[in-house]
Amino acid sequence: MTTGFLFADEMDLADQRVLLRLDINVPIKDGQVSDDTRIRRILPGLQALVAARAKIIILTHFGRPKGKVVAGLTVQPVADCMAKLLGQPVVVETDVIGAGGVAAMAALQSGDILMMENLRFYPEEEANDQGFAKKLAALGDVYVGDAFSCAHRAHASVDALPRLMPAAAGRSFAAELTALHAALAAPRRPLGAVVGGAKVSSKLALLENLVTKVDGLILGGGMANTFLLAQGIQIGASLAEPDMVDTARTIMAKADANGCRMILPTDLVVATAFAANAPHRVTDGSDIADHEMILDAGPQSVAAVTAFLGGCQTIVWNGPMGAFELKPFDAATNAVASAVARLTQDQQVMSVAGGGDTMAALANAGVNDHFSYVSAAGGAFLEWLEGKTLPGVDALQQR
Ligand code: AMP
Repeated sequence: MTTGFLFADEMDLADQRVLLRLDINVPIKDGQVSDDTRIRRILPGLQALVAARAKIIILTHFGRPKGKVVAGLTVQPVADCMAKLLGQPVVVETDVIGAGGVAAMAALQSGDILMMENLRFYPEEEANDQGFAKKLAALGDVYVGDAFSCAHRAHASVDALPRLMPAAAGRSFAAELTALHAALAAPRRPLGAVVGGAKVSSKLALLENLVTKVDGLILGGGMANTFLLAQGIQIGASLAEPDMVDTARTIMAKADANGCRMILPTDLVVATAFAANAPHRVTDGSDIADHEMILDAGPQSVAAVTAFLGGCQTIVWNGPMGAFELKPFDAATNAVASAVARLTQDQQVMSVAGGGDTMAALANAGVNDHFSYVSAAGGAFLEWLEGKTLPGVDALQQR
């Protein structure tokens, strides 16, 4: 279990003014929320605060207004959607740090919800401005962070503010912390990681950290091509980063030195075009023609990966094993994801996935609900896997 944090669910917040930091960045179409998944995900925590009779002041950002008021980036549609889902008013206050905000806060009754207008309308938010944080702090008694997806941002409402007042982790933040802690900080071993995706360059820090932490690292996707290249395999027209070949060798050496087994595909699905249903064949990699490209791992690789993961107790997953948006090149991703889902359902492993396209890849495989935890926090999840200290997590840590 994670230590050093206060949890909102364990506190008596009756009549307390709670500054609740959420991430409510949902898609808007014609002035209305077009996908409310993210809002539904935070509802249980919000309902718990209402039931606890807290006075709730929601703080959030919305899109990238860059420190200016942008009419199209008001939080109003989100407040409307939230009000409808909750069956109670969610009033928006535009004068966040002025007299309007103070008056709205003073008028709050226990169980009421007030939503402050988009904090990024103020340049001080992204500047992590101390004075701005102090004005926000004056509006509440307790800070509850429930936006793990923003935890990698050193912004005023994420970083400076919680350091100024009693601060606790909200329900979904706590779930994320618990899952990540169980996956990387104190995992049951063996611990296996599946890392796929397009490029080595965007996952370099992650790979360098994981080889020091995991017992086995399975590489897939376009990223694995650069490692195959480093092993002297001719990869034809495959996506790869030839200038990262030396880096790939360094990562392999680091894995070796740390007792981390690297598992690369041993058979490959090569196609003649980057397109759905492009003509394709399976090869061991010895005869890839100049015009062919690797779009997926082959069945022998899937069997080896599945066998390795079957012996693990914890599995971390980021990125697809192949070009999963193009059928049938989603086969390896689907097969390995289904295997992890089965192991999870049989309670043989704890499985945590997240970052980038991972959610979409697991959804395509139909197993999104069958992992122990799937994180919706792209950047923050990746930075955690990179071993970085996230400002928004650090700020909640009790000292
Ligand atoms: P990332 O955002 O780094 O996780 O990368 C995900 C993207 O990598 C997806 O759009 C996949 O289609 C792409 N991808 C995975 N494998 C390959 C491959 N072998 N060749 C080209 N693109 C790939």
